[in-house]
Amino acid sequence: MGHQFYTLGAFEYVADVQIIKGRLEAEGIKVFLRDENTLNSDPLISNAIGGVKLMVYASDREEALEIYNEIRSYATDRYGDLIVCPNCKARRSETYYNRKNLFYKLFPFFEKKKYKCLNCNIITKP
Ligand SMILES: [Zn+2]
Repeated sequence: MGHQFYTLGAFEYVADVQIIKGRLEAEGIKVFLRDENTLNSDPLISNAIGGVKLMVYASDREEALEIYNEIRSYATDRYGDLIVCPNCKARRSETYYNRKNLFYKLFPFFEKKKYKCLNCNIITKP
């Protein structure tokens, strides 16, 4: 019987992953990364496959989510104020990219920024 895993999130940059990984490990949570080697050798390809996935044991899920939600950076507008969800008024949004076609996978900076509310999951445009 192997362990069950929970994917905490997928990250585009190894630097982001290292911060979260370090914090979780400091709290005694075992962290597993997937696709990191691909990311280091070829960033374009890793974008296309969704970056680095950070996984924890399913049994550590609650604790890991709590720490992750504490340290993750919420989306802010150009004045540095937290994005307010127009639906539920929560101030917990993250930047959201829906990279559906290959063009945006290869050139993500051409895509317009959107925000995803972490409370009600609605996607909004600024
Ligand atoms: Zn909301």
